[in-house]
Amino acid sequence: MMAQSKALLVLENFIGGKFIPCSSYIDSYNPSTGDVYCKVPDSGKEEVEAAVKAAKDAFPIWSSKSPLERSQILNKLADLIEHDLEAFAQAESKDQGKTITFARTVDIPRAAYNFRFFASSILHHVTECTEMATMGCVHYTLRAPVGVAGLISPWNLPLYLLTWKIAPAIACGNTVVAKPSEMTSVTAWMMCKLLEKAGVPHGVVNIVFGTGAKAGEALVCHPDVPLISFTGSTLTAQRITEKSAPHCKRLSLELGGKNPAIIFDDADLSQCIPTTLRSSFANQGEICLCTSRIFVQRGIYSEFLKRFVAEAKKWKTGNPSDPTVDVGALISKEHLEKVRNYVKKAQAEGARVLCGEGVDALDLPPGNQKGYFMLPTVITEVKDESCCMQEEIFGPVTCVVPFDTEEEVIKRANGVKYGLAATVWSGNVGRVHRVARRLQSGLVWTNCWLMRDLNLPFGGMKASGIGREGAKDSYEFFTEVKTITIKH
Ligand code: NAD
Repeated sequence: MMAQSKALLVLENFIGGKFIPCSSYIDSYNPSTGDVYCKVPDSGKEEVEAAVKAAKDAFPIWSSKSPLERSQILNKLADLIEHDLEAFAQAESKDQGKTITFARTVDIPRAAYNFRFFASSILHHVTECTEMATMGCVHYTLRAPVGVAGLISPWNLPLYLLTWKIAPAIACGNTVVAKPSEMTSVTAWMMCKLLEKAGVPHGVVNIVFGTGAKAGEALVCHPDVPLISFTGSTLTAQRITEKSAPHCKRLSLELGGKNPAIIFDDADLSQCIPTTLRSSFANQGEICLCTSRIFVQRGIYSEFLKRFVAEAKKWKTGNPSDPTVDVGALISKEHLEKVRNYVKKAQAEGARVLCGEGVDALDLPPGNQKGYFMLPTVITEVKDESCCMQEEIFGPVTCVVPFDTEEEVIKRANGVKYGLAATVWSGNVGRVHRVARRLQSGLVWTNCWLMRDLNLPFGGMKASGIGREGAKDSYEFFTEVKTITIKH
């Protein structure tokens, strides 16, 4: 089980209900100190093979349980995660670099809620039935779990996004092999310790740790894994699509974004500014739904910019375990460099950096000097074609530009390859509906951000993804439908 070697935390794969050591390990860093603090299994084909076998063996019994039995187990797991909320939050913050406040209030409560939500929703699906009276027959549909689901998740919201996949997959009666990001594996490993207590039979949830290239690809290519639910970058999704194509696998792909906020001159700035700061910089800007292009109508542009930058400067960056800190550490040294480079490129193109990177000084406690920190950064005077306005940066960087008309801003907001989330700020209800309808975006929030009803579809258009997740959508993805006709 839990092993400590030279004060390092050593994780093990969880296969068939047992913790199993791996022959080789990867270093995992604490992003706020830059120190290696954990060893993560470097699994490959062999480990994935064992996990898929365990999941296949567990499928007949798990899939034959009633939705109510499965629901009770999911609720128990939610209770256990909630009971250990503080320990999970501390671990997530240390492993990912996010603030303890964010982990306590967003990541871990949502991980527990994912199980509770699907425990409830699985009880309420109905299948369809139609009658063809003149032909003397009725038709109805049945839904059944598919088999072993392969689940691959990213590092930004580790347990939150992993459980968003595990919960619907097992609620529907599938068994799973999951592979969390190699950079943030600790909370998934902690959750494995709760599965037996919750009543999850051995082999229903298997977790294999390791890199995408080795463990992830072995899972994607395994012939006995008919469906893959993936959240991560568009580039990796292309690779997964190619690798899974020979097997004709069912894919759900939740990918990156380049999300616009459109702020009209009748917006309530007292609501809009604090929310747009959150939508730009929450979780260090490492949320696929974060705003990174802010279009402000010319009449309020100067006022918005002045107030927005003044507020951004108040966000405190530092030790993630300090509850007064707003911005923690970025996930890795490489990622920090990548995000910084975007700011440098923008400057080289003639853009102005109004606060943050290269403008203000970071003030870090002595223990965090080697951590991967960056201040909230606001860029302006940047062209729509610039890489900062086109590519996903995935850090605490946002661009602010003016616009004149509704028609113009819709075109500019849609002028990227992504289509995940957009926000629209206006007091004019007609305009809000008009703009929301025309934005190429899977989600549009108006006069708010990140308010989610898990019943409704979540997902992106264009390069932001294929498929949707949510109560009904996840149910449809994780089940196979059959149409039966009865002639009487
Ligand atoms: P990533 O694509 O590098 O990795 C995601 C996962 O895929 C990791 O577990 C990784 O190990 C695995 N992986 C990598 N290569 C693989 C391969 N060849 N085969 C199988 N698995 C492979 O993404 P990331 O850097 O971890 O996460 C950031 C990205 O995720 C951003 O683009 C962000 O927008 C996106 N994201 C999207 C959503 C959403 O719901 N749309 C949510 C969160 C993050």
